[in-house]
Amino acid sequence: MEWWSPWHGCHKISPGCKNCYVYARDESFGKDSSVVAKTASFALPLKRNRYGAFKLAPGQEVFTCGTSDFFLEEADDWRADAWRMIRDRPDLRFMIITKRIDRFYAGLPADWGNGYENVSIGCTCENQDRADYRLPIFLQLPLRHRFIIAEPLLEAIDFTPYLDPEKLEEVSVGGESGQNGRLCRYEWVLAIHAQCQKAGVAFHFKQTGTHFYKDGRLYTIPRRYQHIQAKKANLSGSGG
Ligand code: SF4
Repeated sequence: MEWWSPWHGCHKISPGCKNCYVYARDESFGKDSSVVAKTASFALPLKRNRYGAFKLAPGQEVFTCGTSDFFLEEADDWRADAWRMIRDRPDLRFMIITKRIDRFYAGLPADWGNGYENVSIGCTCENQDRADYRLPIFLQLPLRHRFIIAEPLLEAIDFTPYLDPEKLEEVSVGGESGQNGRLCRYEWVLAIHAQCQKAGVAFHFKQTGTHFYKDGRLYTIPRRYQHIQAKKANLSGSGG
């Protein structure tokens, strides 16, 4: 997977933002994450190398805006150009994860229609309150590809009212990484898995996070094992 960060910096708006990795990483460089600015790689999707080939080779998935939020207010003036570049690279698949799905229409291109085929949007829902606010909005949007991302999962969430297999491609679940990462309980993960099974929506247990509670035991899991341990649970798969 490639990364494209057209702008950098963000504002915390949600409980899931508490230990934001952008803030944590910037702090180690003495950088202020609340300053939002275009990056040097703003035009990366259209950039070519010295042989004339695109720097982002065709066929790849591009994690878009991973050090900000694509729908951030400060980026409203830049988003039209970003959408244009996305439209002009139908050979790439752009994955956008957002906590601001309620700002989806800000700067949406006139030719969006039912959505660009090469755009997949993930709506973050870390607790029941944010799921109940964001998902009714999310499910009404004109999108070709959409998924829910419950990461960091902060409590038990009932996604049942929102699990429409016609609209959702996946629910992805994960704990929170880092020494200050908040606890993730396996029973929360299992409950969401069961909801997805029942609704026929694909489920992905992405990673455990650092502090993981399972079968009456609290585990502290180093980052390099968090994805492996989640995979071992063998919960991920299609909705059937
Ligand atoms: S929205 Fe995302 S990038 Fe922005 S502060 Fe929250 S976690 Fe960080």
